[in-house]
Amino acid sequence: MLIPYIPDDAPFSGDQRAWLSGFLAGLHSRMAMPTAPGAQADASAISASVPLQILYGSQTGNAESLAQDAADLARQHGLDPHVSSLDAVDMNALSAMRRLIVVTSTYGQGEMPDNAQLFWDAVAADSAPRLEGLYFAVMALGDTSYDGYCKAGKDIDARLEALGATRSADRLDCDVEYEDAAAAWLSSTVPAIAAVDGGGGGGGAPAAAATKPAKAASKRSPWNRKNPYRATVLANRVLSGPESSKEVRHFAFALGDSGLAYEAGDGLGVKPVNNPELVDALIGRLRVVPDTTVTVKGSEQRLDELLTHSYEIGVPSMDLIEAVAERTGDEELAHVLATGDREALDAWTWGKDVLDVLALDETLAFDPAELLELLRPLQHRVYSISSSPLAHEGTVHLTVASVRYRSAERDRGGVCSTFLADRVAEGESAGVFLSANKSFRLPTDDDAPVIMVGPGTGIAPFRAFLHERRARNASGRNWLFFGDQHRAHDYIYEDELNSLSRDGILTRLDLAFSRDHTEKVYVQHRMRESGRELYAWLEEGGHFYVCGDATRMAKDVESALHDVIVEHGGRTADQAEDYLAELKRSKRYLRDVY
Ligand code: NAP
Repeated sequence: MLIPYIPDDAPFSGDQRAWLSGFLAGLHSRMAMPTAPGAQADASAISASVPLQILYGSQTGNAESLAQDAADLARQHGLDPHVSSLDAVDMNALSAMRRLIVVTSTYGQGEMPDNAQLFWDAVAADSAPRLEGLYFAVMALGDTSYDGYCKAGKDIDARLEALGATRSADRLDCDVEYEDAAAAWLSSTVPAIAAVDGGGGGGGAPAAAATKPAKAASKRSPWNRKNPYRATVLANRVLSGPESSKEVRHFAFALGDSGLAYEAGDGLGVKPVNNPELVDALIGRLRVVPDTTVTVKGSEQRLDELLTHSYEIGVPSMDLIEAVAERTGDEELAHVLATGDREALDAWTWGKDVLDVLALDETLAFDPAELLELLRPLQHRVYSISSSPLAHEGTVHLTVASVRYRSAERDRGGVCSTFLADRVAEGESAGVFLSANKSFRLPTDDDAPVIMVGPGTGIAPFRAFLHERRARNASGRNWLFFGDQHRAHDYIYEDELNSLSRDGILTRLDLAFSRDHTEKVYVQHRMRESGRELYAWLEEGGHFYVCGDATRMAKDVESALHDVIVEHGGRTADQAEDYLAELKRSKRYLRDVY
């Protein structure tokens, strides 16, 4: 039997190569794969009109992009894929479906992504329909460093089964390095689910009205997290004042001839390079020389290069913490791990890097290869883009707060924010790629009013929106709620906002500087003060956006919005919930928060 093989010099990018390998491996494994439940026919016999629903729950666009991959593959199997967010389908549409693939991320500490919550509320309710006629498979995206790993996917998978649906493939739970596993899973799951009912329509309902036929396979950018584009830094300057307790910076990157095309609302992935001082200290702690070589995935590489570019050393992995706990017998750490109390573990881990964890016992010896096995791969960081491709042609801008603190007599920094701030001067370059966020877009109707709530660096996508609306000559009104600690030091982009106001683009600007008064003033206080007008904007078709801190601000903003709807819309609390749900369903309440 032939083993699929793609020559190294074939013209494919990293992701294309991974996808193709997975696809070929899947075809290969299908030859020997047991028949899926209900499968009676080869995929080649499948009628082209057989619908496959692909529903995603996506917070930053990864799950949505995988849903499109699933659709591309489904088309190759003669299926008629329909892709949509989970929230776009109601229970009538769900009960009419025959074949379903769900791809969902998990947000925060085990929560549903914004565009899956309404679906979950309905499917988890006692009134949810029985789903005996449905064949399904779930791919869950998550991050093992957070509580509630892949919880959204696990919950949906269990609930569909409990409602009588038949699982066509075991759920796949993916950690941050998901590409290869996801491609392999899709390549076996799509044909398995296609073969249900002998690949025929099987009496299944036509595509549910709420879902749309998937777009034809789109041309992929060659630039991705495994193959980032080296973008020249055109600007790296501090926006916050010298007396600010923060350091917020504006970055501009040249897109050159990369072909990278983004839209206002998208994010930019940045591949960081670790702090060389921390790399040196770690090599010293291992008591080896920097050019020590280590064999990783069959190839010999220098330890200093690996620690600089390939492994997460600013944030310790759970594997390392557990190994050190076991080998040192440290009582405090052993207690934290034994209780399984995530908050206590987070408190213990807070501010510690790999060197701190090893410092628990300076006599503890680790072989470099052994240490690398315990570390996680160095991850890119995604920042909301603060420019508009129409207004800032050929460039992409970021607005980033540098994370800096001192602990255990060492200066520390956020892995990526200080890489950008300190180690990529203007004229130098950094590895970047686009992270599309199709769920966070301006209204297509340029007349629609827009309300934006973005304190701190949460202003980033709204700077992009405002410039985009000006460049488009959009006639719709724009209202921004912005704030930070002190007006004198933290009013970033003040000149630009004034100019946008003068030009009539920024119709209303409400500012909340929290530490200029004896009592804290936050953006949600300003929303409540102008509740009547805010409600009127919503009634006139306004789109409501939030960006920034997810844990406190976004929740408080939602409760203020709810209260505004009760007070000024003359609604009960339940009716206001329904009003909010409808805003979400119609994509007029969108958030980019974490
Ligand atoms: P920040 O820490 O959020 O502070 C901005 C302002 O919000 C300050 O005046 C702060 O006041 C105030 N604030 C504190 N608690 C609040 C609450 N419950 N409700 C409303 N306002 C509140 O600003 P930042 O340093 O720019 O950080 C922004 C946060 O958003 C970070 O967590 C970051 O990770 C996240 N973020 C995400 C994105 C994204 O791309 N999705 C973009 C930007 C930022 P006090 O400090 O005086 O209490």
